[in-house]
Amino acid sequence: MQKVIILTGPSGVGKNTLGDFLLEQFPQLSYSVSATNRPIRKGEEDGRDYHFMNREAFEEKIRTDELLEWQEVYDGTYYGTLKSELERINQLNKFPLLVVDVFGALNVMKNLKFKPLSLFILPKDLEVLRQRLENRGTDTPETIQKRLGKAEIEMQEYRQFDFAIVNDDLSKAKSQVASIVDDFLKSTH
Ligand code: ADP
Ligand code: 5GP
Repeated sequence: MQKVIILTGPSGVGKNTLGDFLLEQFPQLSYSVSATNRPIRKGEEDGRDYHFMNREAFEEKIRTDELLEWQEVYDGTYYGTLKSELERINQLNKFPLLVVDVFGALNVMKNLKFKPLSLFILPKDLEVLRQRLENRGTDTPETIQKRLGKAEIEMQEYRQFDFAIVNDDLSKAKSQVASIVDDFLKSTH
């Protein structure tokens, strides 16, 4: 049976933190490695965190229809889900976990031939998001401002997802997502 889990929400809300937790808890899940043309950050690894490529290579993947969805998430910066990742994970007899931006998630839901499980992670408020992005230390003040502007627009979409979880107390959010994913993986339809 094909099952896909989508984790989405604004940048800095804790998607990757909760995604890493789910991957530890559920060995039947495998992380879908997205493609992007953004520069690689310290500590990241090509092929593990993203398939890093230049803009021309990304645009070629769009032209050749190799992406299930893609978004220009920030000006000039593309992110997309490779169809080949879902096939690779299927071959492993595992289920893909997609950690993608909100509009990418909506497109995955539209483009898949079956219904995935979709989780929207919400912050307590926008101020908390700002603090998390600042503490993470991976973005310039200008980028943080852009990400916060986008967060307001993205948060209006949360009702379109199966579950909305507030990531305030991390251990509480972890147990909520784990319980939802557990039910989904056990379900037979
Ligand atoms: P995203 O993947 O949504 O951009 P991250 O998982 O990278 O977000 O989280 C952003 C920052 O917030 C990270 O430094 C992470 O450790 C921290 N963080 C995540 N969840 C919480 C939480 N519930 N309380 C405090 N800090 C958190
Ligand atoms: P970052 O640059 O912080 O790694 O990610 C920036 C944003 O791009 C995040 O909101 C992240 O979820 C989103 N993103 C990562 N991979 C994909 C993808 O494959 N498709 C889409 N649409 N967004 C993605």
